[in-house]
Amino acid sequence: MSKPITIRDVKTITTQPEGQRLVIVKVLTSEPGLYGVGCATFTQRFHAVVAAIEKHLKPFVIGRDVMRSEEIFQMAMVSGYWRNGPVLNNAISGIDQALWDIKGKLAGMPVFELLGGKSREAAHVYVHADGPTPKAVTENVKGYLNEGYRYIRVQMGGYGGRPGDLPKPEGAPPGAYFDPRAYCRNMLDMIEYVRSEVGFEVELLHDVHERLQPIDAVQFAKDVEPFKLFFLEDILAPEDLEWFSRIRQQCATPIAMGELFNHPREWQPLISGKLIDFLRMHVSQMGGLTPARRVADFASLYGIRTAWHGPGDTSPVGHAANLHLDLWAPNFGVQEWCRFPEHVYEIFPGTPEVRGGYMYPNERPGLGIDVDEKLAAKYPCEDFVEAWTQTRLPDGSPARP
Ligand code: MG
Repeated sequence: MSKPITIRDVKTITTQPEGQRLVIVKVLTSEPGLYGVGCATFTQRFHAVVAAIEKHLKPFVIGRDVMRSEEIFQMAMVSGYWRNGPVLNNAISGIDQALWDIKGKLAGMPVFELLGGKSREAAHVYVHADGPTPKAVTENVKGYLNEGYRYIRVQMGGYGGRPGDLPKPEGAPPGAYFDPRAYCRNMLDMIEYVRSEVGFEVELLHDVHERLQPIDAVQFAKDVEPFKLFFLEDILAPEDLEWFSRIRQQCATPIAMGELFNHPREWQPLISGKLIDFLRMHVSQMGGLTPARRVADFASLYGIRTAWHGPGDTSPVGHAANLHLDLWAPNFGVQEWCRFPEHVYEIFPGTPEVRGGYMYPNERPGLGIDVDEKLAAKYPCEDFVEAWTQTRLPDGSPARP
């Protein structure tokens, strides 16, 4: 037996090339020049993730055999005794994805080969069309269609719909105001209008962002059924999971759920009950490729497909990890894509490329992506208090963002 290659050091890289603050982990090994990268991005609480990696996980993993990614994942999850939160899960994901990257580099294979090889040549993606009016949203949809996209998420006014002139009480604090009932009416009008303009050949998606009361969510899922969405996302909050069976009993609108889940166990009743159609997992939020692969395999037994979370606060490294899962998973559904600008491709060489609505891998071993630390340092993270997540109902009370 040759001596194992071990973890020599862990570096945490933060960068903000656009609005989102990204956290990347670089695992350095005892083998000169051999390292891996992983996504640990929790943009709203990034300092806490950095501290979890630097102060707790780094001393825990140094000296361990790089091949034992499963054992390291399992022990990292439980060795803090208190577990299952977004800060620690993201920190663990950075290590986990980096170990998969290293494993691929050692094997001389892309990670999708280690997972079982390609089930497809590329992953079809969906992009976000937004706008202040149904007409504006439709114009954006048409623009994307011209670029070759066939799956398009339609939103109006961010996640909140048109706040208009909400009758707020005197002294109401500032915030992202939102009227859930008006949202339902406005979104129905918008989706109906977009369908009437572009027909049924384009796949439309919509994200409710868990902003409705459960009974309004049931009504909304029924009301949009005639417009045949590809999926309706986060129609309910993780706190209201029992209501999914009510939706299922009453309509066939495909349901996507779960970017806020922390642990594979949270999927289990929804999958085994066949209450959802797409897994909306934020892979780093779950702890990395190791748990994501497990849930994808479990879901495949129930005919439930993947739709990994892929917004701008998934780093390019995280998007690369998503893509490897997409290429392998027999039950792949669709991949969310945030369209990074050119300078992000320079900071992260190997960022997945999208052409004609498909995301393509490169053939480099591992995750096929790297980070230029010098360039990344030119975009330091800023400290600010997020405003869009401070959502309020018309009377000023706090609501889910
Ligand atoms: Mg979402």
